[in-house]
Amino acid sequence: MSATAEIIKPAENPFDSMMSRFDVAAKLLNLSEGLYNVLKSPAKQVIVSLPVTMDDGRIEVFEGFRVVHNINLGPAKGGIRYSMDVHLDEVKALAAWMTWKCAVSNIPFGGGKGGIKCDPRKMSVGELERLTRAYTRAMIDVFGPEKDIPAPDMGTGPREMAWLMDQYSKLVGYSSPAVVTGKPLVMGGSKGRVEATGRGVMVATRSAMLKMGLNPFKSTCAVQGFGNVGSISAKLIEQQGLKIVAISDVTGGYYNPNGINVAEAIAYSQAHANQLEGFPGAEKISNAQLLELDVDVLVPAAMEDQITKHNAANIKAKLIVEGANGPVAASADDILNEKGVMVVPDILANAGGVTVSYFEWVQNRLGYFWTEERVNRRADRNMKEAFETVYQTSLKYNCNLRIAAYIVAIDKVAQVTQLRGGI
Ligand code: NAD
Repeated sequence: MSATAEIIKPAENPFDSMMSRFDVAAKLLNLSEGLYNVLKSPAKQVIVSLPVTMDDGRIEVFEGFRVVHNINLGPAKGGIRYSMDVHLDEVKALAAWMTWKCAVSNIPFGGGKGGIKCDPRKMSVGELERLTRAYTRAMIDVFGPEKDIPAPDMGTGPREMAWLMDQYSKLVGYSSPAVVTGKPLVMGGSKGRVEATGRGVMVATRSAMLKMGLNPFKSTCAVQGFGNVGSISAKLIEQQGLKIVAISDVTGGYYNPNGINVAEAIAYSQAHANQLEGFPGAEKISNAQLLELDVDVLVPAAMEDQITKHNAANIKAKLIVEGANGPVAASADDILNEKGVMVVPDILANAGGVTVSYFEWVQNRLGYFWTEERVNRRADRNMKEAFETVYQTSLKYNCNLRIAAYIVAIDKVAQVTQLRGGI
């Protein structure tokens, strides 16, 4: 992080944010008290102790978690997070989020999430590998291509997924690529996965703009966050004709009313340790100022709780597309509603990533790999259909897109839960 790094701290608890929307949707659906209690409770919570020999010979014991929230639609799906902030409540919230995300985007998976309380930046590659293998051994009865399929999340990536796949395969005695997604391409990853989330954000943006009658060639856009989701969303949204007037990352915001060349910004960031600090041709602003710019479209793609009751009244964008998970806090929902701002919620807007993860799992089980063109075409179609379903639901229930997305998801999981019975 640079000396001028600007930290945006989450203001509200993401689990509370999620549950307050869940409650509104459950009420509109007239969900029975019994089903309400079933759907809010995680099916399984596993906590393990992971002894790891560190490079200096010491044995350190790490705490690992896996929560399976719901598996009525299919095997659990969700990432593994390596961070000192990992704790059971957070993992529970993220697992539930995955259930709703898969349900709303028509993916036959349930929701899960995992994590290890550790600081990966302070660990050597060897220590991280031993930790990942210890976690996989401890979760051998939890994971499985038909049971629970992990993926990368904060602090993990294709490298950790390769170790996990290898360790799982060694334990079961055969090669099992479908046990995990987000693997390196060469060992069974899917084409299109790296761009999938940003691509879905772009499709969601276009779908919403069509409904709102916004002309992309006359519209401006600001994107907060310039990592995987932010940079690719900015690049693909720019290709749709919108002018990207502001981008930002942990070093702050960069504003140019005449438009930022996103390809140049990506090249600059890549050449400067993945940071935009010093990016030329733009005025330096703060992340908070970026959110309040007079633009047509705002894509928060950095982290949670960026738009809250404290700044929602100052938002000028007509459309917010949530690239990040939980960037609009529940306390801001009503304020944005009253202002007539359309918000495409995270569980819909950033579902492109899990959609292509699902395609990776399908290809691994088929043993047959698709072209990037086929992956993108199917992912785009899935996203457009999911958007349309949520949009029509918002008209039917006279509610915003976020509540409509929760209604679609909760209704689907509730119906399947009832049909399966056995409660
Ligand atoms: P990333 O680590 O690649 O990028 C994060 C970006 O946000 C970076 O540009 C970073 O500089 C910036 N950032 C980090 N901390 C910041 C801070 N305190 N203030 C301002 N900017 C800050 O992460 P990503 O994969 O792009 O994920 C971004 C968000 O999207 C997260 O909420 C993540 O959960 C969500 N998401 C990611 C995917 C995916 O496929 N990568 C899928 C769904 C949702």
